[in-house]
Amino acid sequence: MSAETNQPPDESDEPRASFLRSGDQLHWVVDRLAGGWLRLDTTLHARDVDARWTAITGQPIADAHGHGWIDVIDASARLDFLDALRAAFATNQGVHGQLRLRQRDGSLRWLEFVGSPPALDETIGLVAEPIMLGLFRDVTAEVEAQHRAEELTRVLDASSDLVMIVDPAEFRLRWANDALTRFLGVDVATGTPLVDFLDESSSQIFDEIARPALAHQSAWQGDLVFHTRSDDENAGSRTEQILPVATVLVGHRNVDGTMTAISIVARDVSALLDAEQRLEASEIKLAALVEHASDIMCVIHKDGRVRYASPAFLPVLGYAPDAIEGTSVLNLVHIDDALIAREAVRDVLDSAGLVKSLDLRVQHADGSWRHLEVVATNLVENTAVNGVVLNARDVTDRVHVAARLRERAFHDELTGLPNRALMLERLRDSLRRASGRGRLVGVLFLDLDRFKIVNDSLGHAAGDDLLREVARRIRETVRPDDTVARLGGDEFVVIMNDMVRRTDASLAARRLRKAISEPIRLGRDTAVVTTSVGITVAEGPETPEDLLRDSDTALYRAKERGRDRAHVFDDRLRDRAVRRLSVEQQLRRALDKADFEVHYQPVVRVVDRHILGGEALLRMPTPDGLIMPGQFIEIAEDAGLMTQLGATVFSMVCRDLAGWTHPAAAGLSIGVNVSARQLSDTGFAQFILDELDAYGLGPSRIYLELTEGSLVDNRPQTGRTLRQLHDAGIGLAIDDFGTGFSSLAYLKRFPIDVLKIDRTFTDGLGLDENDTAIVKATIALAHSLGIRVVAEGVETDLQLELLHELGCDTVQGYLLGRPVPSAAFIECLSR
Ligand code: C2E
Ligand code: CA
Ligand code: CA
Repeated sequence: MSAETNQPPDESDEPRASFLRSGDQLHWVVDRLAGGWLRLDTTLHARDVDARWTAITGQPIADAHGHGWIDVIDASARLDFLDALRAAFATNQGVHGQLRLRQRDGSLRWLEFVGSPPALDETIGLVAEPIMLGLFRDVTAEVEAQHRAEELTRVLDASSDLVMIVDPAEFRLRWANDALTRFLGVDVATGTPLVDFLDESSSQIFDEIARPALAHQSAWQGDLVFHTRSDDENAGSRTEQILPVATVLVGHRNVDGTMTAISIVARDVSALLDAEQRLEASEIKLAALVEHASDIMCVIHKDGRVRYASPAFLPVLGYAPDAIEGTSVLNLVHIDDALIAREAVRDVLDSAGLVKSLDLRVQHADGSWRHLEVVATNLVENTAVNGVVLNARDVTDRVHVAARLRERAFHDELTGLPNRALMLERLRDSLRRASGRGRLVGVLFLDLDRFKIVNDSLGHAAGDDLLREVARRIRETVRPDDTVARLGGDEFVVIMNDMVRRTDASLAARRLRKAISEPIRLGRDTAVVTTSVGITVAEGPETPEDLLRDSDTALYRAKERGRDRAHVFDDRLRDRAVRRLSVEQQLRRALDKADFEVHYQPVVRVVDRHILGGEALLRMPTPDGLIMPGQFIEIAEDAGLMTQLGATVFSMVCRDLAGWTHPAAAGLSIGVNVSARQLSDTGFAQFILDELDAYGLGPSRIYLELTEGSLVDNRPQTGRTLRQLHDAGIGLAIDDFGTGFSSLAYLKRFPIDVLKIDRTFTDGLGLDENDTAIVKATIALAHSLGIRVVAEGVETDLQLELLHELGCDTVQGYLLGRPVPSAAFIECLSR
C-alpha cells in the first residue's frame, strides 16, 4: 500500500472516508484479504495500486498506474465496466463485478472487483476529490468451478437419464436434472420425498432393500417404477404416468464418513421392457400354439428320429409325446404310404428350406388308421430347430366326406349301384385287362318290360321298391367281381369280366331274366316283371361307349321281337345300326332339299268300287331307289325330324291336290298319316288350316290318319288339336285299328270320323274265325257310333266279298290299287 493511504482518516469527513483513513486498522484488514486494492479518481486513473495487482494480473505496478490498469481487462467487458465505474462516481454508489483479465501469456483470469462509493480524499491533491477504493481478488478458481458446475448441469440436463440428488436422512429431493419433469410428467418441488413418486411396490423395495443397502454399501442398483398422478383441473381429467426405471443409487460421504447426499441415476427402461415383453409374449404365444394346437408338430433330426413331439400326438394319434420322442415316426405310417413318406423326408432333408406336403395314413394307438395331411419343412439350418419340422393335421373326416361325395357322384342313390359314369370307368378297366389276357367282356343291357305300368298303377314308392329288389337280384345272380350298374329308370347294365366263352353272356342273361321274373312282393301286391336284355361281347379294343351303344341296339332288337327275351348284338345288328345312321343322314339331306315323293293308294267304296279318295304314302328317293316309310319313319322320330317331315308331306299333298285339275279328282279326299309327335305340337292344327288355305283347298279334301297310340297317352294338347281340326271340318281317322290298345274309350272321347281296320285282320278274313269276328264286331261298333270303316290290305276278291257282306264302307289294298305317284294316280282315276 502506498504511504498516502496510510494517512489517518479525517474525523470530520464522511464515515467511509474516515474508514479509508483509519490507517493501521485498514491496512491490517486489507493485508489479510485474499486480494489487493487500488484507488481510482473520477477520471478512472489509478492513483495507487496494491502490489498484489502484479501477482494477480502479471502487470507491473508501474504500468498499472493511470489508465494502464484498464489494459489488462479483457476487451469484451471493458467498456461496460468503465461505464459502470463512471456511473458509480456520478451517483456516489459502490460497484461490484467480475472482470475477465487477459494475461500477457494469453491465459484468462477472473478478478472480483468491489468498488466503494466514491469519497472525498484530500490526501491526494490540495483539494479534496472523490476517490473510489477498489478491492480486487483473484476468483479464477471459483469462476471456473462455477462454470464447470453450470456446464455439468447443462450436460446433465441434456442427458436422457434422470440424475438427482436427495438428502440422506429423508430422501427429499435436492436437485434433479430436467429428466425428472420428463419422466414424471409433472414438476416436482425441491424437498419432495422420493417415495412420493415411487409406486407401491417400489416404495417397499426402496424401504426394505435400497435404504439398508445404501447404509451398508453406500450404493444400490435395481429396478423401480416411478408413478405420478396429476389432476388437470381445466380438463377435469387425471393423468397417471407409470415409468419403469433402472436406477443406481450412490451415497456420498464427507471425510468423517457422514453421508451428505445420495445421487440417483435412473434410466427409462419402458421401451426395453416393451420389447422384452413382446419377445416373451411371442415366445409364450408360440409355445402355446404348439402346445395347444390341434395339429401335430414334431421335429425330426437328421437321423430320422423324433427330437420333439407336440402334445397333440395324444388326442390325434393316441400316443404320449414322450413315447414318440426318440423313435422313428415313420414306423406309424401305413405300409402303402411308407415309401412316399420316407422319400419326402429324405428330399426335404436334402435341401434347406424345402417344404413338401403329402397325405399319409398313420396308425392310431387304438389300431385304426387316420388320414393325416403332413407338411414337412426343412429347418436344419435354423439353429433353434435343427431338423425337419412336420406339421400334421388329421383330415380323416374330410377324406371320409370326400369319399361319400365321390360315392354319391358315382352311385345311384336308389339302389346304391354304380351309375353310368362309374360303369363306363369300370368297363374301360375291364376292357384294358381283357385285351391283355385274351379274355372276353360281356355287357348286358337290361330293361324291365312295362315297368311304367307297375310304376303308374302301384305308385312310385312301390316302383322304387321294385327297382331295389331287382337290383338286389341282379347283384346276387352275377359274380362278385362283375359290375352291376343302374343307368336310371328301369335300365341296368351288367359288366361280366374275364369271360372265356361268348355263350357265357347269354347264359347269364337267361339266369338274370329268370331271377327277375320271380314274383316280387310289393306290400299287399305282387308284381311279375319280365326283362329284355341286349348283349354285347367284347374282346378289348372296343370303347366303352361303343359297347354300351351296341348293347342298347341289341336291347332294342329284343324289345322289337316281343320283349321278355335277350338278343345278342351281332353283325346284322351292327349293319342295321350303320344303316340307321346312313338313313338318318339321307333323311336330313332329303329334308334340306324337300326331295321326297308322295304316292297315292286309292280308297274305294265297296258297293260300287268308286274311288272316293286315297291315302298319301311317303317315299324317300335315294341313288339306290325309293326307300319305304317303314325304314325311315321311326328313324325320323328318333332323330327329332318328324315334325319337319310331316309338314313337308302335308304341303306336298296340298300342292298335288291343288294341281289335280282333272274332273274325276274334284271331290277326292286324301288321307294323310300323322305321327304322335306331330299331334303334340301346339301349332299343328293351325299349320294344317293355314296350308289348306294357302292352296285354296276346302277341309273335306283331306283327312288325317292317327294311330291309336297317339290318342291313348291322353295329353291335353292332343284333345285341343283334334277338336280344333274337327271343328274346322277336317276328318279324323284311326289307323291300324285293333293293333294298339284294347281300350276303345278314345272312340267316344275324340271326334273320330273314320276307322281303318288293320291289314292283319283283313288277312285272316274268311280264313281265321277270330279275325273275321273282330272285323265284324269292329264294323258294327263303328257304325253304331256313326263312324265310317276302311278295311286295309285287301288283296283278294274273297276278302272284298266278305267285307261287302259285313257292310264295310270302303276298302284299300293291292287288289284295288297299289300306291303310285301322283300322275299315275290321276291316270287311274280317269279310267
Ligand atoms: P299305313 O298307314 O298302314 O299305310 C298302309 C301301308 O300298307 C302302306 O305301306 C301301303 O303300301 C301298305 N299296303 C297297302 N295295301 C296293301 C296290301 O294290299 N298288302 C300289303 N301287304 N300292304 C299294303 P307303306 O307305304 O310302306 O307305309 C308304311 C307305313 O308308314 C304306313 O302304314 C304309315 O304308318 C307310315 N307312313 C307312310 N307315309 C307316312 C307319312 O307321310 N307320315 C307318317 N307319319 N307315316 C307314314
Ligand atoms: Ca295310314
Ligand atoms: Ca294302316
